[in-house]
Parts: sequence; C-alpha cells; structure tokens
Amino acid sequence: NLAVVLYTSDLRLHDHPPLRAALSSCDQVVPLFVRDRGIEAAGFAAPNRTAFLADCLADLDAGLRERGGRLVVRSGDVVAEVCALVQEADADEVHMAAGVSAYAHAREERLRAALEAEGRRLYVHDMVVTAVAPGAVTPAGSDHFAVFTPYFRRWAELPPRAVATAPRVVRVPEDLGSEPLPARAAVSGTSPGLAAGGESEARRLLTRWVRHGLAAYQDTHDDLAGDATSRLSPHLHFGTLSPAEAVQRARAAGGPGAEAFVRQLCWRDFHHQVLAARPAIAAADYRGRQDRWRSGKAAEEETEAWKEGRTGYPVVDAAMRQLREEGWMHNRGRLLTASFLTKTLYVDWRIGARHFLELLVDGDLANNQLNWQWVAGTGTDTRPNRVLNPVRQSLRYDPEGRYVHRWVPELAGLGAPYVHEPWRLPPEERARYDYPEPLVQLSDGLDRFKRGRGIE
Ligand code: FAD
Repeated sequence: NLAVVLYTSDLRLHDHPPLRAALSSCDQVVPLFVRDRGIEAAGFAAPNRTAFLADCLADLDAGLRERGGRLVVRSGDVVAEVCALVQEADADEVHMAAGVSAYAHAREERLRAALEAEGRRLYVHDMVVTAVAPGAVTPAGSDHFAVFTPYFRRWAELPPRAVATAPRVVRVPEDLGSEPLPARAAVSGTSPGLAAGGESEARRLLTRWVRHGLAAYQDTHDDLAGDATSRLSPHLHFGTLSPAEAVQRARAAGGPGAEAFVRQLCWRDFHHQVLAARPAIAAADYRGRQDRWRSGKAAEEETEAWKEGRTGYPVVDAAMRQLREEGWMHNRGRLLTASFLTKTLYVDWRIGARHFLELLVDGDLANNQLNWQWVAGTGTDTRPNRVLNPVRQSLRYDPEGRYVHRWVPELAGLGAPYVHEPWRLPPEERARYDYPEPLVQLSDGLDRFKRGRGIE
C-alpha cells in the first residue's frame, strides 16, 4: 500500500511525524510538494521566499534521493493536485502537518472532504510546525493564551516529545511524473544578501549556533551590529529545521544563553497558538484601540520614506535598508522600525506588516502579524502605548554606530554621538553629509499619536 506525504511548511526529513507515520503504515510513499496557486494568488509568494523555497525543495529532493526516493512537484490548486496524485498512484492515505492560518485550516477541510468522498483518509499531524501544538496548553476558560509568561510556564513544563532522526530508506514509485524543481536563479527581484535555504544548511547553522553562538545569546541578542542571533528564522518558517529539535539541542547545551533562546522559540509557539485560535487577527486588531490611523498624501509619502530607509533617523534607516538588502532584519531593528511607523508616523500596522511580508525571507503570518500588533499596541502586549525612541534605541543598541555605518554608508565617517542624531551637527559639518533631515520631530509624532489614540 501507498501513502502521499504532502509537504507544506515542513520541508525536512529529520523529525517529521507525517513522513514517519506514512513509512510505518505503507511500503511506499510519495513525498509531494504542490506549488499552490492559492498562495501565489494571495500575493504571499514574495521573491525572497520563493528563492529560498527553491533551495529547500532542491535539498529535500537530494535528501530523498540519497534514501532511494525523490520529491514529486506539481503546481495548481493544492486539493485538486493531491486528489489527482492519489488517483494516479492509487494511494490509500495522505499525511500532512497541521497549519495555523485560516488558509491552512480551509486547505485541510477541503482536502479532508475531497479525500473522504473517494474513500481515502487524511491524517493531519501536529507538533511539526511548532514545538508544542497550538491548543496543547490552554488557560482556564479560553482556547488560547493571550499572555506570554503563563503560556511559557506551562509550555516549559510539558514533557519533551521524542525527536526522530531522518528515515534511512524512502521508497517512491518510479512511474509518477514530476515537474522540474523550481530554480533559485530563475527568481528575479530577490535581495542581494539573501540567505541559502534547505535542510542541510539549517542543520549546519544549528550545529554552528549551538557550538559558537548560543552561550552568549542572553547578553548579545540585542546588539544590532554584533549580529549575534541564530538567523534560524527562515528555516523555522519553512520547516527545514524542527522547532522541537532546536529546543532539545539548546536545552542539552544548557546555560543562560540556551534558556533565553528557548524562550524566544516559545514566543514563536505563542504567536502560532494565538493565530490558530483567532485566524482573523492576521488582518484584524486582536484588541482594537479605536485608532484613527493617518491616511492621505503626507502619510503615504512618509511611509514610502520609511520603506526606502530615508526617514532621517539613522538607526531606522539602517534597519529598513538591511531588510531590503538581506530579506531579513535584526529583531531589535524590527521593533524600532515598527514602532516608528505605527507610533511616530501613526500609520496603520497592516501597511508595515505587508511591506515586511513582501521582503522578509522568514515572513510568517503568525510571527509577523502578531509582532506588528504587539508593537502597535493592538495585540497581546500589556503596554499598548509605549513608544520606542529611535535615538535612545540607537544609543543603547548601537552605541558606536557600527550598524548605522554598515547600512547607511552616507554616514560612515560620522562617530557618536552625531551618528545617532546627525541633525545636531554644526550646520557647515551637517552639509557634508548627503543624508535627509528627520521626517518628523519625535515630540510632534508623540503628540499626534496620543491625540489619534485618545490618550490624555
Ligand atoms: P533569534 O533571536 O536567534 O531567535 C530564535 C528564534 O526564535 C527565531 O528564529 C524565531 O523563530 C523565534 N523568535 C525570536 N523572536 C521572536 C518573536 N519576537 N516572536 C516570535 N518568534 C520569535 N519572526 C519571524 O520568524 N517571521 C516574521 O515574519 C517576523 N516578523 C516580525 C515583525 C516584527 C515587527 C517584529 C518586532 C518581529 C518579527 N519577528 C518575526 C520576530 C523576530 O524578529 C525574528 O524571529 C528574529 O529576528 C529572527 O532572527 P533569528 O532567527 O536570528 O532570531
């Protein structure tokens, strides 16, 4: 008998419950990836992620070939393609990972109904995309945690699940056609510094991280120029790395760095369990604040300046340019640029979130939308009106201006303190730097935000 394993955001062989289950119940499997027209039509297939995905598929195929199998790639409507393949291969069952978005829920429902109509079964496995399944722990009286700390406590108490190695042999029927694998080089419009994808790369990065980066993480994770975070986020997004395995490897290493890192991995699960329970918050406020976000020409022009990294606030511009150049941004940069857009410019978080999703290689509905909401104060945060001051953030997290120098070369010769506030330079010196004046005074931005939100 035969099973189809439908790959989505879980592009790996290690620690893969759907593949394990299929191999234990069937002699042959068909590992399938569908280039889903639905995701492309929703505008979610941004160039950086499409290119990274091509790496992931190539590496998955190579891993399967080493084990005697291969990856089958099709494109079209995901449900129609799975059903067609089930017919073609005369498969008995389909295995896949549970997703958390509204789209993933609908895909699962449609697929289940279509397969059952043909007398086949769909098995949906949780704890593939997250370390702990959404809904595995809940507070009294609700289907999800809205506050992180109690979630983290319960999450951390759960007994770890066994993390499986990659299967040794995967037998795939010979006669099933596959489209050619998509090529990274064929994707245009990618960021020049885009990272490489694939499970092999993810495993290499994880090992290097646990050996050389993890121990210092607690002290260095906010250092913008130090770039001392794991950079595992795109791998966690595409599932080339198992989050449960990342937790387990960090815990085995131990120490305060590992504890801080595991806590961040829990944030990822936290946001996923919120989105799984409230799929609408991908677009709607989790907690509305009656915001009267700015719109109109001035707001649009300022948003453009923000996107292009020419707000006149060096650390904001550095982070926005890192996003464009690498398809990735340091977490501290994400926090302060999102605060700048939503609080200082008082522009709707959805506009910023969309821009991030167009560029981020780790762009992820749960993590992106909920972090944006957290910063905008419409989400699960407890300090909705906090505003991050970009000058203070810069002084604190980039004291010598090295991050600014890297991404804003116009200011490369400028030392502290002026690198944080170039407008304070004496006029004749200021004229030497081809760099914009601040878009808005911080105090004016603050007043406008307070008025918009109705804060006394
Ligand atoms: P590390 O510091 O090494 O952390 C390890 C892992 O923990 C990360 O890979 C990530 O999976 C998880 N993690 C860390 N911080 C967070 C967090 N605040 N929330 C959820 N998970 C976290 N992360 C994404 O994966 N995709 C996004 O689209 C995304 N958008 C964001 C938007 C905004 C406005 C903000 C403030 C944060 C966003 N983040 C997002 C969270 C965080 O910035 C990134 O996960 C992190 O910077 C990735 O780099 P890293 O892998 O080196 O992180």
